[in-house]
Amino acid sequence: MKIPMVDLRSQYRDIKKEVEDTIKEILESGQFILGPHVREFEREVAAYHGCKYAVGVASGTDALHLSLMALGIGEGDEVITTPFSFIAAAEAIVYVGAKPVFVDVDPETFNIDPFEIKKRITPKTKCILPVHLFGMPAEMDGIMDIASEYGLNVIEDCAQAFGAEYNGRKVGTFGSVGCFSFYPSKNLGCYGDGGMVITEDPILYEKLILLRNHGSPGGYRHIFIGRNSRLDEIQAAILRIKLKRIDSYNNRRRAVADLYRRLIGEIVICPEEKKGLKHVYHQFTIRYRDRDMIKEKLERSGVSSVVYYPIGLHKQEAFLGLIDDDNLPVTEMLTKEVLSLPIYPELKEEDVTYIADCIKESISVAI
Ligand SMILES: *Cc1c(COP(=O)(O)O)cnc(C)c1O
Repeated sequence: MKIPMVDLRSQYRDIKKEVEDTIKEILESGQFILGPHVREFEREVAAYHGCKYAVGVASGTDALHLSLMALGIGEGDEVITTPFSFIAAAEAIVYVGAKPVFVDVDPETFNIDPFEIKKRITPKTKCILPVHLFGMPAEMDGIMDIASEYGLNVIEDCAQAFGAEYNGRKVGTFGSVGCFSFYPSKNLGCYGDGGMVITEDPILYEKLILLRNHGSPGGYRHIFIGRNSRLDEIQAAILRIKLKRIDSYNNRRRAVADLYRRLIGEIVICPEEKKGLKHVYHQFTIRYRDRDMIKEKLERSGVSSVVYYPIGLHKQEAFLGLIDDDNLPVTEMLTKEVLSLPIYPELKEEDVTYIADCIKESISVAI
């Protein structure tokens, strides 16, 4: 028995013909950058979110970087974000010359805690950057209240949460912008790198369109210094094929999560969906005091599992000297207790049962 964290090949088998036909058409067309598939995909993602604009970019990291640039955040500014996440958002804050300010997270949702945000606001704070970690929506009511009270922008990192909902509303539509990644293993992933920014704001939209293309409206005129950060036609076409299926992919993930909860919810701490939230389970991340024991047992049984994330960002060497020395006890605890289990739409019920049995066995042996 071998169970991986994700299985991109079996998903590909389901959509193979459609993908290959489309790629062939694009190769024949000779149009590879900013063509009709990118425009259509942008229109479809905007429609999916019920928002006005979407801008395809080269990656999720670039979506965050270009958003910070578009909002004019830079030298001397502070951006409040989570220490319990992938590094990209905090990195993007440093790219524009601003300072990431890490505040602690909620032990149940793993997401940034609005109460902690409030304590760290200073006159330099310009923006709050929550991450909807593992597909679980961050506490957007609390975050948006603070943002409006202090006049701050909000950038949502939705890289792990395409399709997730907070009180019936899609994540990415609360802040000034929502940023997505289409890295292959994300809930909506392409076959390379890709990203997107969504917004309701026509001025931000215009800026983002220029920023992704060297600050140029065309004709070799350059209004400001931008980047080369474009989504390409082949990736956009693949994403259009998968976008049609995203709700069913996410629902499958939710069914897998329900089954995990039924099988091991009594013996380890499982993610719980609070009322009004729709989690899309980019990861199914459990907590257990001796998670290394579970991890080792799974490994011996042919089951992959990963610690997302073993080190809080505030403890990463990369930020040494850039951030204040902080005491973030919840993040410290989570880095020691979390373990992400295999979850993907194609994961079979019998595989989930097998994984659950391995976990039960490792715990009963230890007791
Ligand atoms: C994957 C990811 C990113 C970065 O996306 P890329 O497309 O890999 O650049 C940003 N934030 C989070 C939370 C992610 O998981």
